[in-house]
Amino acid sequence: MAAEIIDGKAFAARVRVRVADEVLRLKAAGVNPGLAVVLVGEDPASAVYVRNKGRQTREAGMESFEHRLPADVSEADLLSLIHRLNVDDAVHGILCQLPLPAHVDAAKVLAAVAPAKDVDGFHVSNVGLLGTGQKAMVPCTPLGCLMMLRERLGNLAGLEAVVIGRSNIVGKPMAQLLLGDSCTVTIAHSRTRDIEAVTRRADIVVAAVGRPEMVRGDWIKPGATVIDVGINRAAGTGGKDRLLGDCHFESCAEVAGAITPVPGGVGPMTIACLLANTVTAACRANGLAEPEGLTA
Ligand code: NDP
Repeated sequence: MAAEIIDGKAFAARVRVRVADEVLRLKAAGVNPGLAVVLVGEDPASAVYVRNKGRQTREAGMESFEHRLPADVSEADLLSLIHRLNVDDAVHGILCQLPLPAHVDAAKVLAAVAPAKDVDGFHVSNVGLLGTGQKAMVPCTPLGCLMMLRERLGNLAGLEAVVIGRSNIVGKPMAQLLLGDSCTVTIAHSRTRDIEAVTRRADIVVAAVGRPEMVRGDWIKPGATVIDVGINRAAGTGGKDRLLGDCHFESCAEVAGAITPVPGGVGPMTIACLLANTVTAACRANGLAEPEGLTA
């Protein structure tokens, strides 16, 4: 194996330390950063995410407000909670855990979150700000990928980047962020012709597809940096699931200069960036200097 393994767990731990330092600075200025997480229903995976988010928020010294609503909550009641959180000065970030039950219009709920508190970066205002190169709240997963790329590669200007996947949550914002750092960006998707050849041009490959081990070593340019966002569950030994990325790790690691593993790569960065976004939102809300290195 030639590639350096990018340790997302260790990186995320360093981000959380930086966040905790910033929280102390904010508290010294009289601001107590707070994150509200809204969970609707009993989806077990969502409940685990929400628990982890709450724990890490408190460990960073921030206030965590958890709102658990029954699966049959009406859309009106959910919207009214979001409106209350929007005007609550103790809350600097609001995250509504997806997926929402089918009877709730998720787009309507995400649009109801005040853009300044939209720490997920999904509100169309933030999408527009990011797309026009202005200060936005940036979606957590692509922000984490950008931080890892900057740390490994320094200045990204002029590098060829291929983002595989064009979702609103990962692919598109990732491409915008790389463009913002002056990469030459290609977005590949299910209709891309000769995706192997397109990917082989890239100094930076970000795979966000949801297809286990789709990207093979012979798609990778020697020395490229490979960021694997994919989380795919496959049957493992002893009846336990194992997680696979969108990249075939062994063959890609033979060729790449650096690669993120799955698990332990991008995954841990997502919550760390949620905390970073909450600190950024608290700074902006109070006219304080934003932390360096925690935003795009
Ligand atoms: P989506 O399903 O929303 O998007 C997948 C994208 O991949 C689409 O744009 C689709 O193209 C493209 N695609 C599908 N099949 C192919 C193919 N054969 N060749 C090329 N492109 C293809 O997924 P997400 O963006 O939400 O998530 C992607 C992956 O990242 C998933 O595994 C998810 O679990 C993981 N993820 C991980 C996170 C983390 O914290 N680490 C956070 C969020 C997601 P088209 O648009 O043409 O259909």
